[in-house]
Amino acid sequence: MKVYVQTDIEGVAGVVFFEHYDPSPENVQHRQRMRRLLTGEVNAAVTAAFEAGATEVIVNDSHGSGYNVLFEELDARCEIIHGRNCSGPHWLPEFDDSFEALVLVGMHAMGGTPKAILPHSRWEVNDGEIFLGEASMAAALAGHRGVPTVFASGDDKIVAELREKIPAARYAQVKKALGAYQARSLIPARSRELIAQGVKEALEHAGDIEPYRIRGPLQLNLIDSPNHAPPFTRVLDKSVEAANIEDAFMQALKAMPWNKFNVELPDGFQFP
Ligand SMILES: [Zn+2]
Repeated sequence: MKVYVQTDIEGVAGVVFFEHYDPSPENVQHRQRMRRLLTGEVNAAVTAAFEAGATEVIVNDSHGSGYNVLFEELDARCEIIHGRNCSGPHWLPEFDDSFEALVLVGMHAMGGTPKAILPHSRWEVNDGEIFLGEASMAAALAGHRGVPTVFASGDDKIVAELREKIPAARYAQVKKALGAYQARSLIPARSRELIAQGVKEALEHAGDIEPYRIRGPLQLNLIDSPNHAPPFTRVLDKSVEAANIEDAFMQALKAMPWNKFNVELPDGFQFP
């Protein structure tokens, strides 16, 4: 059984701020601490997946820089995809229909969700017929390949959003959001325990959980802002149209003004 673990950091117990790049020792230490909290939750999911019979577990370090999980501390049986992706719009690199399940750790609510921790990104399907956050978009991309999303962790708002879309999956609510930057949080030892239990149970019942499918053809746009704060607007002047969610998503990412894929080092480039 192959399991894909998609990770983000906003939904980890103890995380209530977007990181900033201030080089002060306090900030560097704070960021390192957030990464340790993320790593603990990811590792809980990985170990539980192996306990539930996984033979291969791939972790995707997907937040911001793509270099957040302290991978030297992970269960040595898994492998990790990390680093900045400049080669193409691949949200779930190396993902294909050979995986039996998608597991989501550290997820946040979609942009505009009231009283959610660090909510951002609202994908709009067919002019508002369906809205997807980053977590439900990952689930839809997996669903397109026939793979079910069996588990997710995060705050109460993302758990509620996903539970509505994928009722049979298992969830771990690791904090209750009190606002965008304040939460009532479980202590890491407890959040990891809930994640481990949830992943184990989810994989034992993976066969009963339907892939989350968005039917095509469809139109797709993204509602967001450059710093993820209101006012939110449609990022693309014209929604992209495609036969299925995967093609629509790839097209939309390529059209985003801030994405520049296929970046290569210029001729004569030398490292300082
Ligand atoms: Zn993130």
